[in-house]
Order: sequence, then structure tokens, then C-alpha cells
Amino acid sequence: MTASKIGRRQVLAGAGVAAVAGMTAACARENGSSPTGEGWDEECDVLCVGSGAAGGTAAVTAAAEGAKVLVLEKMPVLGGTTAKSGGVCWIFNHFLLKEQGIEDRKEDALKYAVRYGYSRHYDPSSPTLGLDETRYKVIEAFYDNGSVAIDRLRELDAVQFKQFRMFQVDRPAPDYADHLPENKVPTGRCLEPAVGSGSAEGGGSLARQLLAYLEKQKTPVMLETAVTKIIRDEDGKVIGVRASQGGKDIHIRARKGVIFGTGGYSHNVALCDMHQPFVYGSCSLPGSTGDFIPLAQEAGAMMGDLGYAWRSQVVLGEALANRGVGWGAFVLPGDSMILVNKYGKRVVNEKRDYNDRTQAHFPYDPAHEEYPNHLIFMLFDERSLDAFGGAFPFPAPGASQPYMLKGGNWDELFGKIDAQLREWSGKTGGVRLASGFAETAKQTVATYNGYARNGVDPDFNRGKYDYDKAWHMLFSARREGTKYPENPFPNPVMHPFAETGPYYAIILGPGTLDTAGGPQVNENAQVLAANGEPIPGLYGAGNCIAAPTGQAYLGAGGTIGPAVTFGYIAGKHAANS
Ligand SMILES: Cc1cc2nc3c(=O)[nH]c(=O)nc-3n(C[C@H](O)[C@H](O)[C@H](O)COP(=O)(O)OP(=O)(O)OC[C@H]3O[C@@H](n4cnc5c(N)ncnc54)[C@H](O)[C@@H]3O)c2cc1C
Repeated sequence: MTASKIGRRQVLAGAGVAAVAGMTAACARENGSSPTGEGWDEECDVLCVGSGAAGGTAAVTAAAEGAKVLVLEKMPVLGGTTAKSGGVCWIFNHFLLKEQGIEDRKEDALKYAVRYGYSRHYDPSSPTLGLDETRYKVIEAFYDNGSVAIDRLRELDAVQFKQFRMFQVDRPAPDYADHLPENKVPTGRCLEPAVGSGSAEGGGSLARQLLAYLEKQKTPVMLETAVTKIIRDEDGKVIGVRASQGGKDIHIRARKGVIFGTGGYSHNVALCDMHQPFVYGSCSLPGSTGDFIPLAQEAGAMMGDLGYAWRSQVVLGEALANRGVGWGAFVLPGDSMILVNKYGKRVVNEKRDYNDRTQAHFPYDPAHEEYPNHLIFMLFDERSLDAFGGAFPFPAPGASQPYMLKGGNWDELFGKIDAQLREWSGKTGGVRLASGFAETAKQTVATYNGYARNGVDPDFNRGKYDYDKAWHMLFSARREGTKYPENPFPNPVMHPFAETGPYYAIILGPGTLDTAGGPQVNENAQVLAANGEPIPGLYGAGNCIAAPTGQAYLGAGGTIGPAVTFGYIAGKHAANS
């Protein structure tokens, strides 16, 4: 297959792929040999692997730089987890902030990012804020290139960023750590696509727009084509890949670079068991199997932060039935609602963001040699269920869900929780309610009721910061037609529980939107070898690499913002190499 023939090929639909594979295999013989001794079936300048925010942005950027680009996607549909997402994109110092005269200064912005993402290392007096040189330059590159990437996509009209607006709750959305003193621009860094904004459609729109641009440029996109090997020449430069397509191996040459944007590894149980504390389920798409990790390791890559993930609690009943859950328990609805552990104690501010809140599952108790918060129990009453019905994980008003337990009184409910735990014990490490659970949980509810009446939560600061209140209003808007009045208490995110039942519970476990660890890149999105030098020709962006922002989910869009930015950096660098 000559390059010009490839160039004329349009976006491939699944059904056509096998036929094309046969055709390309025949053409390979015309092309001389690849280092594997077989011919190249396809050739391009820049090969982008994965069709989500990272791979899509890399492909658009490289194509716009004049490179001949080819995109490979292993699934039969395009867009990856990006297509399922809200499509919100968190970017420092973007054009709308500038238009509004809001200064998002680099010095302050990086302090916020490092303080939140690497709190163990943060040192404001250090020139690298306490980070090693590589990580500092990576996070600096996120600041320097994020708004540039967005502007480039706008300029190309590749995404309707022209019509992008700030993601709103009832105001521009507060960051997930709006309360940190280092955060000098606590609202307004989240952009959302104008088409399908604020819904699951947003990510679909983002992915579709990137791919529509590629289609316009006649950039070929091969579906159902999974990269299975990175090919290097004798000097170690990456010069192509082997991919599996229609049951056959094909070899693709990439003259300038191979960019992976292949997502995380949430659906690779072996990798999760090896590197994550616990992951019961993930709302990422099934393509997130961490293919890049062994491929990059074979090419000599250094791994970074393999244990990181973009975390969310998941409804355990759903996750045990199917690891790929539809939705995470992102922002927990309800005001007469608390979370308790197996001892009946609250362990976290229930209104914190999903990424940080999920970490409450992980502490270890060395006195009892156990994880006391391994499973967490969401308790609520009829008011919360009715007033906020339909806000996941609450079922729609009047409906029920098998995962929601109901008791006429607390003791009946607690009995049902423990019966459920007994049934699941083979899958949960045998977690059961502790013997004093009922008494402690009732006391916890009574204490919480007092906090709700006063409007202050001295234990976990629930509702103290702007984030808690703003996001509560987005996910716990009192529904029309409920018989329950507005919350009359001083703190809108807390309301005392009813004196009498029925009461309800949903059992939550830790899960992910997807993982966020993998090969370590530098500020050019080049994958680093174990010796810290870039592996020539190999790039990564998005959830398949060590997250540029460490463990911080900086605000809504905190995963797609870096994915778009490092996709842009990789596409530009590879195309001009
Ligand atoms: C319900 C939901 C809502 C979300 N909302 C937001 C949001 O609003 N903002 C935000 O920032 N984040 C959000 N997220 C998280 C966000 O969707 C992901 O973190 C982000 O889309 C990841 O982008 P990516 O390009 O790295 O990976 P993906 O979009 O997952 O793309 C990776 C692609 O690579 C393909 N692939 C994998 N292996 C191979 C291989 N070997 N060969 C070829 N192809 C391969 C996969 O099939 C997949 O299509 C949300 C997630 C969910 C589930």
C-alpha cells in the first residue's frame, strides 16, 4: 500500500476493516521489509493510537502541522471513555478568563496544582515547588500549553471552542479544592462544549468534533485495530507498531512518531490488583485495559505513579454484577444523608469531590489489621430520597433499585445491610458490620442531626466551602412535585434525619472513572526510558500515562484538560521532529 493510497482512504467502518486488512497485507510485499522481517502494511508520519480526547487532539494537531497522520482504535466505535464523559475540560488561564480580565498567573497556578497534586512534596520556597525536575516541567507544560492547545483547536475550528463557555453550576464551577489558599482563581477554569454541554452528550460532542475534523482532512481512522507491539530500530528509535486487525497482524510504519492515547487500565483486573488499593468497578469504557503499560515496558519505559486513578465511589451491588458500571457515585445527593463505616462512624465529608472522597476507603488500621472503611454505607431517609429522587444513585421518584436497602426503622435497615454483606462476603474480603454498629450509627445520626440544626460540621467541615454547596445544588436540586419543603436549616447541604423511618442504605465501594498512572513523560509528552532520557519517537497523553497533575483532580474537566493539552504537545512535537 503506498502512502498516497492510504491518504485517500476515508474513515473506516467496522465492517470494512477485515477487507482492508487483506488488501494491505498483499500490498505490504511491495514495500520492502520492516525490522520484523515483514513488509510495512501502512505508512504515515505520525501514528495516533486511541480515539479519545488525547489521541484525537494529537491527531488533529499533527495533521494541522502538515504531517500524514493515521489513527488506530481497537474498539468498533470511536471516542473511548471521552465519548461517554461530560466533555468538560479544565484549563489554566484560558481565553474566556482572559476576556473577562481574570488573571491566572503562572506562579500562583502552579502552586495550586503542586500543593494539591503532590502535597507530600510541596515546598513553596523551592524553584520546582519541591518536585523533581521532570514532574515540575510536566506540570509547567500543562500551564504553558493548555490555553494554547484550546486556542489552536478554536483556530482550526476543530472543536467549537469558539462557542465554549465556562462550565456552570449555578455560577462558574468552583474547583475541587477551591478552598486551598494557593488557589487564586477558584472558579471558572472549566470549559464545556457548547454542543451537548453539561450532560453526557458533552464528551460525545467533543470526540465527534475532533474526528469530524480528521475526516475533513481525509485522515484515515482504522477501527477494530489494536496495537500489540511497539517496533524500534537498532538505535532504539520507535519506527512503527504491530497491530491486530481482523484476526491478522499488520505492521505500520510511523516516520516521525507514535503517540499513545489509549486510556487507563481499569478493566485489566490483574493490573488493578497489582497497582491499585482496591477497584470494584469503573465507568470507563471496556477499551481501558492498560495496553500501553506492557508495550511501553518492553520498549524500556520508566513507569510513573502506577497506583494513581481518577477515583469515584461506585454502587457495590452494580459493580459486583458488572465491573463496568454505567455511572459513578460522583456527587452524592441528599441533605439528610451521611456515610458511615463498618463501625457506624462518619469518615469523610460526604459533599467532597468524588476523586478525593473515594480515598476515604483506603486507610489501614494497624491495631485491628484491617481497612475499616473498605466499604462505606450511605444512609438516608424518606426526605432525601423523595426530594432528590433521580439524582444517581437515588432511584427515580417512586421507583426502586435492587441495590437500595430499606428498613422500617434503623435496626431493620442495619439487619438488611449485614445480611447483604454476608451474601457478598466471598467478594469483599468478608466485610461485616462490627458488633457495636447499630448503637454507634444511631449516635452518629443524632450527632449529625445536631450539626445540621446548627449548620456546622466540626468533624468534616461539610458545607463549609463553596465547592460543597455549589455542587450540591447541581446534583441535589429539590425536584418539582416533592412533598418535602426546601431545607430551612442554616447549612443547605445538611438536614436532620426524620425521627422515624423508613430509612435507606446504599453500599458503596471504591472505583474509578479510569486509572491515571503509566509511562512517565517529559514536557514534550515524550515517553522516558528508565535512564530518564526520552525514547525517540514514542509519545503518550491522557489516562495511559502518569498523570501530569499527580493525584489532583483539579476541577471539573481535570482529566480531559491534561489529555487535550498533552495530546496537543505530542502531536506538535512529533509532527515537527
Ligand atoms: C460518565 C463519565 C463522565 C466523565 N466526565 C468527565 C468530564 O466532564 N471531564 C473530564 O475531564 N473527565 C471526565 N471523565 C473522565 C474522562 O472521560 C476520561 O478521563 C478521558 O476521557 C480519558 O481520555 P483519553 O483520551 O485518555 O482516553 P479514552 O477516551 O478512554 O480513549 C482511549 C482509547 O484508546 C483505545 N485503545 C486502548 N487500547 C488500544 C490499543 N491497544 N490499540 C488501539 N486503541 C486502543 C480505547 O478503546 C479508547 O477508545 C468522565 C468519565 C465518565 C465515565
